[in-house]
Amino acid sequence: MDLVENLSSIQHKIEAACARANRNPQEVMLLAVSKGHPPEAIKEAADLGLTFFGESKVQEAKVKIPLSPGKCRWQMIGHLQTNKVRDAVHLFEMIQSVDSFHLAEEIDKWCDKQAKTMPILLEVNAAGESSKFGYKPEQLLADLERINALSKIEVYGLMTIAPYATDAEKVRPIFRRLRELKTECENRIGAPLQHLSMGMSGDFEVAIEEGATIVRIGTILFGERAYAKKKIGAETEEA
Ligand SMILES: *Cc1c(COP(=O)(O)O)cnc(C)c1O
Repeated sequence: MDLVENLSSIQHKIEAACARANRNPQEVMLLAVSKGHPPEAIKEAADLGLTFFGESKVQEAKVKIPLSPGKCRWQMIGHLQTNKVRDAVHLFEMIQSVDSFHLAEEIDKWCDKQAKTMPILLEVNAAGESSKFGYKPEQLLADLERINALSKIEVYGLMTIAPYATDAEKVRPIFRRLRELKTECENRIGAPLQHLSMGMSGDFEVAIEEGATIVRIGTILFGERAYAKKKIGAETEEA
């Protein structure tokens, strides 16, 4: 694995996708998905200037974060069980995978105890896949206002994991749907939402063309993960 080369290739592709969509590359944050990779890889990435890292399991993050450079900033991108919320609130500065009011309430409760506010994204199962976590769009709209009213939570936008496709063009409508849903959410709460977290190794360029502000990239940056080569359902349930 050549991290320098991988990163430079990703950055060029981000810039090119932004140019095609008439967007400023500064608007797109690269979240380095370090799940399945050791602290040494994280340190190397941090030395190259990467700041934002994504982990999908609380247990793994709990071990790796203390061994990683202090300047790294961590976001939770995996399915979160309520019994792990206390640790998650302690470890992460954003939780991208909120998919129920109950979970949001639990985060709010632990933030209150830890005297914190937590930026969150609401995860949407935009393609309606039964294998995936995430809100159904109707349920999201139904819960939005009461989540937004929780005092220790700040809703920053939406996140989705598109179905796996060999041709990323096939998932363009999913990304477009998420962008439209963000507009619907903004209308409901009467305020702009900053983020659309969409796009992974196989589809980030299309996601950027459709408005992604956060792309979550693991494999094409760090190489294949040591575990779970599953192509479908990149998201994993915690043990
Ligand atoms: C693993 C994972 C990613 C990164 O996937 P790659 O295909 O390796 O880039 C992005 N988002 C979520 C939620 C993930 O679980």
